[in-house]
Amino acid sequence: MSRVCLTRVQNEDVCGAIEFCFNEAVTEDLLKEVRKILIKPNLLNSSPAHTGVTTDLRIIESLIVILREKGIKEIVVGEASFEDTEKVFNALGVYQLEKFGAKVVNFEEDKWVKVESPLKLALKHFHLPKTLLDSDLIISAAKMKTHSDTGVSLSLKNLIGCIPKSERRVGHIIDIEKTIIDVFSYLIKNKRFLSIVDGIYALEGRLGPAQGNPVKMDLVLAGSDPVAVDAASVKIMSYSPQRIEHIALASRFGLGDMDGLEVVGGSIEGVKRRFEMPPALPSFRSYLLSYAMERFFKKIPYLRFEDRCTGCEACVSSCPIGNIEIGGDGRININEKECTGCMVCIEACREGALDYRVRHERLYGIGRKIYHIRKSMR
Ligand code: SF4
Ligand code: SF4
Repeated sequence: MSRVCLTRVQNEDVCGAIEFCFNEAVTEDLLKEVRKILIKPNLLNSSPAHTGVTTDLRIIESLIVILREKGIKEIVVGEASFEDTEKVFNALGVYQLEKFGAKVVNFEEDKWVKVESPLKLALKHFHLPKTLLDSDLIISAAKMKTHSDTGVSLSLKNLIGCIPKSERRVGHIIDIEKTIIDVFSYLIKNKRFLSIVDGIYALEGRLGPAQGNPVKMDLVLAGSDPVAVDAASVKIMSYSPQRIEHIALASRFGLGDMDGLEVVGGSIEGVKRRFEMPPALPSFRSYLLSYAMERFFKKIPYLRFEDRCTGCEACVSSCPIGNIEIGGDGRININEKECTGCMVCIEACREGALDYRVRHERLYGIGRKIYHIRKSMR
């Protein structure tokens, strides 16, 4: 049974709420021999915390103060925002956290280290920031939000921000729910873990995670089992964790406990509220459109300029699904059937040897012309 602490933030005393959660949810063992801690907030863009989009920095500040008091000397706050990370950090005042004794790291400027995906549900391998890999304990300090693709964005979904943007794009194309589990399974198997969910201002609506209606809940959740913390958060949003595919997947693979929750500090029933969620399934029209795009107009990379190819294999190692091989003749082979069309290999080729073609290019061209004519007539 996994312990989840849930508490109200009284009179804006965020530090008091975090301290309470810490005392209730963190066992002595969790911090034993921990030298370096990485805190990963959700700073998707520069919207302030009261919009329901980004993690409240008072939570991060409180965590730093508490961890310093407990004798942790190396604390890093790391993130790669959806927008320009440096601009987001400056707009939100993230560097101010350094005066409390933490280092702020823009993952985009960190060294990316390639790791094998333990489960290989969507990605065979992916990259993580060196700063994260050097840490003993990861704290996913997430926001309580709805998400148009995954239903919710909580402490598991927050981890997608630990991989490069190009791989996030690939994950969204292949299967975002499985990509979340690929990243999470690596971290939970190799690191100690703590999840915090910021429900001071949560976000509801169909357009999450970047837009929607902020909801003042004045809640914070914490626990060392991220699956349990996310399951409790979904229950507070009045839905079954079974409906959220990545939470159900994590539970099925034994990465955490979705059902047996021991909730302390408050009751789910006492704080739950029905959130307006994105529709469970895409509309028939959007489904048809994405099927047609995939079926008829898929982008497929190919070696356009053979003379430029140096055989460096950068494209081979960049392909997240291991879809490129070097043949006996030294030429690269791309498996068209399995290719997701993510274009990561084209970005990886510094020689500009690769290009792409669109399946049924003429039909695609006609479709685009019709689209632009219709748009100009609106
Ligand atoms: S990255 Fe470019 S140059 Fe290197 S092997 Fe691939 S196609 Fe050739
Ligand atoms: S071959 Fe290129 S476009 Fe296809 S999946 Fe691999 S990286 Fe993506």
